[in-house]
Amino acid sequence: MNSKNKSVGRRTLDKREREKRTVETMIGIYCRGNRHGGGSTLCSSCDEILQYANERVDRCPFMETKTFCSSCTVHCYKEEMRERIRTIMRYSGPRMILYHPILAIQHIFQMRKERKKTRIG
Ligand code: SF4
Ligand SMILES: [Zn+2]
Repeated sequence: MNSKNKSVGRRTLDKREREKRTVETMIGIYCRGNRHGGGSTLCSSCDEILQYANERVDRCPFMETKTFCSSCTVHCYKEEMRERIRTIMRYSGPRMILYHPILAIQHIFQMRKERKKTRIG
């Protein structure tokens, strides 16, 4: 593996981990906000969706270039899981700026990039 490939691999790995952290944060906001579980732990239903989302992220073939799953043409989520994660994102998206401003700003930045790409392409 040459150094260029190594750095692409590292970037993809970092992106994967960042995406997992963002999803976990958003599921946490939703779970706590709706008083599902106790304290800092997720309820079993939210934990199930987190495990599922992490699995998707681990297997995602577009990790290097992807922005949001909602913009993906493949949609590897099962219909039921897709609905559940959508509900969570709708709830947690606007609340991210209050609880996790840095993550929220990164999210907005990525959203803008995605919109620009869609307009051009
Ligand atoms: S929906 Fe698309 S971008 Fe998201 S994890 Fe699945 S394949 Fe990857
Ligand atoms: Zn929950």
